[in-house]
Amino acid sequence: MSSTVPAGMRPGGLQASAGRAELVCFEPSCRTRFAITDVLYNCPKCDGLLEAIYEYDGRGPEDLKRLFRERRMSNAPLDSSGVWRYRELLPFLDDYTHVVTLREGNTPLLDAPLAARYGGLDRITFKHQGFNPTGSFKDNGMTCGAAQARRLNMKRVACVSTGNTSASMAAYAAAGGMEALIFLPHGNISFGKLAQALEYGAKTLEVEANFDEILALVRVLAQKLGIYLLNSMNPFRVEGQKSIMFEMLDQRDWRVPDWVVLPGGNLGNTSAFGKALREARDLGMIDKLPRIAVIQAAGAAPFYRMWKDGAALQAVTKPETLATAIRIGDPVSWPKALHEVRTSNGVVEQVSEQEIADAKAQIGRAGIGCEPASAATLAGIRKLTDAGVIDKAADVVAVLTGNVLKDTDYIYKYHTNQLEAPGGVKIRSNFGNRSIVVPNDADRIAEMLR
Ligand SMILES: *Cc1c(COP(=O)(O)O)cnc(C)c1O
Ligand SMILES: [Zn+2]
Repeated sequence: MSSTVPAGMRPGGLQASAGRAELVCFEPSCRTRFAITDVLYNCPKCDGLLEAIYEYDGRGPEDLKRLFRERRMSNAPLDSSGVWRYRELLPFLDDYTHVVTLREGNTPLLDAPLAARYGGLDRITFKHQGFNPTGSFKDNGMTCGAAQARRLNMKRVACVSTGNTSASMAAYAAAGGMEALIFLPHGNISFGKLAQALEYGAKTLEVEANFDEILALVRVLAQKLGIYLLNSMNPFRVEGQKSIMFEMLDQRDWRVPDWVVLPGGNLGNTSAFGKALREARDLGMIDKLPRIAVIQAAGAAPFYRMWKDGAALQAVTKPETLATAIRIGDPVSWPKALHEVRTSNGVVEQVSEQEIADAKAQIGRAGIGCEPASAATLAGIRKLTDAGVIDKAADVVAVLTGNVLKDTDYIYKYHTNQLEAPGGVKIRSNFGNRSIVVPNDADRIAEMLR
């Protein structure tokens, strides 16, 4: 081995895994297998969700942990990505030159004693995915989705989304030399959320139809024009999002927390976390599973209702919440997420708009900050400790999914007591912090500040 080869480029470090990865239908009654390079988003037989499965290369858990730790010292692009550092645990590529990385992941674990107290806990750790290149965990998944698109020789990628998915896809497409197409319902655009996608050069198409109709349309176009779809059901995005759990465990020297708490929208992240934790356990890297708690906004809580009633999933036709990243009425990945919550002995909870807003302000006051959807975690924890489901002394990791600057309008309105929930319900500014108008007069300002 040449000494000029960086650590991450050692034989084994860049080793491909051709023939050892497959796609398989998630439905227990189907489980049909497909080639990893088949362009599929759902099972052609039963329409079930697809997942990637692997035959790993046989390296032991301690070797893997050492390898991941060593890579933190390497400046090689793959090693300095918080996703590709863990590539032996998501070995779907046969050639790593397809990778597009913006050094995603590498997000901190943050202690927040004041937020812990608010949540009814002795301590809490936030895993803050808002530190990602485009400000949300979507980057962890998108680096994998973009790599798969390049491997399939796709020139264009598309998604239907107005939020963090479009921002992330636009960035990774641009960085990887692909054209990004974003489809939106006409007249339903919030340019605040689209600003990043526009800046990254995505072609944005407004269609005279609703979200579901557009998704159907885009599927037809994808077939006709050879466009690769990077929507929520894309199984490679889920593979990338697994790294959030691997990195969290690595940062804790593989000590397993009692609980992992996250917000639930389309439930792709819940699916990814559960898969990651099961796979880490099966590989002997951890010896138990943390319990997963999924928190939904009460106005968009079909998964919570399903969990509580023990019934089939009933889509919410008009989901409403100011936490727009989880404003999802018909979550794509619910079968996977249900499996993961059950397997981990987890729970599903829902929280009100007021609870989200106050928890968000508390996370802000801890000097951390996050977007509204992320704050559902702390709001949910407060409820779950109150109900005795989560123990006060529990070791809890809450995943903050998006950056505080994603929704500044919400912040300003909250602190100036102008925030209204859908339906015109006023949100109380319980932890508000307004600016104060003062005269240009040192004496009077000094008096005020005394
Ligand atoms: C996408 C997103 C969510 C929801 O994640 P799902 O995987 O759809 O459940 C939550 N918070 C933020 C900030 C997001 O961007
Ligand atoms: Zn199937």
